[in-house]
Amino acid sequence: MHSELLKYVVIVGSSGVLILALSLYGAFKIREGPGVKHYVILTCMSAVFAFGYMFEMMSTSIEEVKFWLSIEYLPLPFIPAFIVLMCFNYVGKKIYPAFYYLLFTVPIITIFTHNTNEWHHLYYKKVGFRSDTPFPVADLVAGPFHYLHSFYLFVCIMLSVIVLLMELRKSAFQFQIQILLMVFGLLTPVIASYFYLNKLSPYGIDLGPVSIGLTCLFHGVAIFMFRSFNVVPIARDVVFETMKEGVVVLNQKGIVVDFNNAARQVIPMLHHRMVGEHVLSIVKENKALATVIQERKDCDYRHETGVIQHFHVQFSEIYNTSQVYLGQMITFSDVTERVNMQEELRKIASIDGLTGVYNRTFFVRQAEEMLRSLTKRGGLAAVIMFDIDYFKTVNDTYGHEMGDAVLRKISEIVQKNVRPTDIVGRYGGEEFIIYLPATALSEVYSLAEQLREAIQNTVIEANEVKQFVTASFGVAAFDIQPGNASCTLDEFVRKADQALYTAKRNGRNCVEV
Ligand code: GH3
Ligand code: MG
Ligand code: MG
Repeated sequence: MHSELLKYVVIVGSSGVLILALSLYGAFKIREGPGVKHYVILTCMSAVFAFGYMFEMMSTSIEEVKFWLSIEYLPLPFIPAFIVLMCFNYVGKKIYPAFYYLLFTVPIITIFTHNTNEWHHLYYKKVGFRSDTPFPVADLVAGPFHYLHSFYLFVCIMLSVIVLLMELRKSAFQFQIQILLMVFGLLTPVIASYFYLNKLSPYGIDLGPVSIGLTCLFHGVAIFMFRSFNVVPIARDVVFETMKEGVVVLNQKGIVVDFNNAARQVIPMLHHRMVGEHVLSIVKENKALATVIQERKDCDYRHETGVIQHFHVQFSEIYNTSQVYLGQMITFSDVTERVNMQEELRKIASIDGLTGVYNRTFFVRQAEEMLRSLTKRGGLAAVIMFDIDYFKTVNDTYGHEMGDAVLRKISEIVQKNVRPTDIVGRYGGEEFIIYLPATALSEVYSLAEQLREAIQNTVIEANEVKQFVTASFGVAAFDIQPGNASCTLDEFVRKADQALYTAKRNGRNCVEV
């Protein structure tokens, strides 16, 4: 073999070996990740192309050249399509089925016209050997379908470059390097084909197989060194943008450097224009949120804009690997459901289901708490206890439903007549209790009278039966000296209960002190 030819054979062969090695590495070491599958297919096809061309270079007859050309043209027409697929997959762009058909039409035409060239000579006008070279070099004069293939390659590469550059704009710096490597990889075949088509390559040797080796190498570096197909810029963007938690990233001075879409739920005024502004100046309209951010303490934040939402706000400090403070990240997690459930549970635990007033346990806890603070400073307090008269008869005569209606109605009357500071509880079956802070005996007496009259005058209806009921009241009022710890709720209740008993004995439907 001519030594000059040997040199080129070795270069092309090495390129093939390199591509094959990259392919195997991708297939067995990397396997998963955006674009990897297409990269492996692409490198396999490129390796076949390179080896085919190496044998084509060593061919000494036209028949041999044609045989190796047909081997090269098994993968070659599909290489542009897989470049596009790889790049789309890499940046996470969806590919529609119609686009696949479009992408594979030209390769099929190319394969067909290449293999039937004998009949129409539309792929190669002429297949021969050059006469001006020291060793046999195939002289292939391109026909219209060959130009179609070249044009298709060019379009596919441009499309891929555009898709990559669109991603470049949105990516963080380390990912930009990877994307640029991908772009450089795509540009080498364009340069090679420029040289080849303009007959600038040495002895008219096709630089394609070598340039595709460079392409695979660039892309391989992007994959293996930076793990571009694994770490992926897209993953970060997708995760950040689709996460339910709102995130705002601040630098050490409190300037907003990044945020995601979900953060707009809490800070609707956030806009990409505001990157670079101080977070407090962005939220200044919302005093409550500004306070939360200023205090930098994890907490729940109630957000009210028409609907009420609750967010758990979390502050995380960000340090670099040398432990230098870089800034902080504020995370807002929607906990509306949890807070609503807690409120609901609290209600269930404190409210009597039938009447809507406090249940006995909750009433006692509330009243004791109020009384405790009263015994410290001293002052007035009163209690009313009342019991419905002949309630058993109501139940027995008109049924339990009427009994329930009476209980509901009476609770309604009571709640309408007491002051907002008074607390009402259902103490027993048809026995109610009211704790009245800062109330003198005369006041509590007249309030009990007012309630008694209201009950007596209210017609209660159930199952189309109308009914009047009365109730008996016992009231007790106390003037507590500061620090007198002997005044307990039990004592209050005992006194009021005694008065109620007197009221029952005195003929019912009356108030006793
Ligand atoms: P008095 O005037 O002496 O208070 O007579 P009374 O019949 O009201 O007294 P008693 O304590 O004997 O009766 C209370 C009745 O209240 C017994 C029970 O059936 C009824 N009761 C207790 N809780 C409920 C309830 O939730 N719904 C209904 N419908 N009845 C209830
Ligand atoms: Mg009763
Ligand atoms: Mg009773």
